[in-house]
Amino acid sequence: MAFELYDGPRGTIKLIKKEDKRYVEFTCKQCQDVIHVPVTLTQLNTWAAGAMIQHAFPELSADVRELFISGICGPCFDKLFREV
Ligand SMILES: [Zn+2]
Repeated sequence: MAFELYDGPRGTIKLIKKEDKRYVEFTCKQCQDVIHVPVTLTQLNTWAAGAMIQHAFPELSADVRELFISGICGPCFDKLFREV
């Protein structure tokens, strides 16, 4: 398993390379869970260039998109920001 760092205008992202696939590795700022999100370099470049997150990664769930935006996983985001 190889690591690489993707530097973009929206910060540095840790990427994991497995065979020909790439995964973004997120560590939730709240619970420290590690989450791997499958992406393509094209998607990352689109996002880094300033595209809306739902445009760059249309197949990702809202929870996963939140990791790109705030670095917080879905369950933690719910606890922090949504009224129960
Ligand atoms: Zn979390």
